[in-house]
Amino acid sequence: MRYDKDKIRESLTQEEVHKILIDLGSKEPFQGNQYQTVCHGGHKHKLYYYHESKTFHCYTDCSRNMDIYDVVIGAKENQGYKYSLNKAVEYVARLTNKGFGFSSSIKISNDIIDDWNWINKIKHIKDRQIKTLPEYDSRVMDLFLPYPHEAWLDEGISYETQQKFNISYYLKGERIVIPHYDINNRLIGIRGRAMLQEDIDAGKKYMPLTIENRLYNHQIMLNLYGLNKTKDAISRLRKAVIFEGEKSVLKCEDYYRDNNFSVASCSSQITDMHRNILLSLGVEEVIICQDKFRAQKEDETDEKYEAAIESYQKTLLKFASKFTPYVRTYIVWDDMNLLDYKESPCDKGKDVLEELLRNKYEIGTIEGVENEL
Ligand SMILES: [Zn+2]
Repeated sequence: MRYDKDKIRESLTQEEVHKILIDLGSKEPFQGNQYQTVCHGGHKHKLYYYHESKTFHCYTDCSRNMDIYDVVIGAKENQGYKYSLNKAVEYVARLTNKGFGFSSSIKISNDIIDDWNWINKIKHIKDRQIKTLPEYDSRVMDLFLPYPHEAWLDEGISYETQQKFNISYYLKGERIVIPHYDINNRLIGIRGRAMLQEDIDAGKKYMPLTIENRLYNHQIMLNLYGLNKTKDAISRLRKAVIFEGEKSVLKCEDYYRDNNFSVASCSSQITDMHRNILLSLGVEEVIICQDKFRAQKEDETDEKYEAAIESYQKTLLKFASKFTPYVRTYIVWDDMNLLDYKESPCDKGKDVLEELLRNKYEIGTIEGVENEL
């Protein structure tokens, strides 16, 4: 969300800018706006701040226009710290007590919960039964064409990956077949991705398949897609990424092969059962990696849109709070505007996914969040 960091920059008062520059190591400015060139580690008062445009200009070494974040990143680099843009935004927000994105509601902290407490909780979770879903007769798969669909090949999901996950095609229903298995490789549901525009327009893009009057649905909230294939990597690496859609798991299969530690919730919910399943695999780290929020609607005011974003963030926080007492928990949030609206963090390729992962937010144990939500 570019929106957040822009909003913070635009809202900076001259006093706040002053506070930041002093904190970055400048002495008192000349003429009220000529700071020392902390941007490149210099001492001359040649870093001018222009309050109207909220920009800086360094008239010596950098000799360019910068915003507050550029100045922070430069100054920190000269002090020996590597600051990402996100970290610079966080620094500015903290210093000026401004809420931004997640940090308004989150205590970004590395507080380690009491060890014994933690072990007890893990044990508690392990004792819990993970619900076993009813199994369908896997012979139903014989009704489908066992071939990957061109549309998905074009999207970069390889033939091998589609074979591995038994992606097939249902000619009669004109749907790409996505079989869902539980962690023990039992067929528990079959979803179809509509290829007919009329089905898509009717809001039936992803639906459980009906074959010979039988609906192959399942309780999505009780299973994680992909786990039958990715559980070994998840156990070995002790971490999991939770995407929203099945395709994300398939794309990560092509990016990471044997190290694919992703699963998909396949809805906009992450549930207690999802958490229990992952904890049973011994994960120590969970990354919530849901699709980017939608665009602003034409008839939607800025305030309404802002409120909708905030509510989406709260939902993500609620999901995170299911994990924070047990494992390190992160949320991926596209501050840098690398994704289009409603895209999955893996839709723009491996490099973008990794950039987003590098800038993920660590979520501390959030006191009172459950009550608040
Ligand atoms: Zn400079």
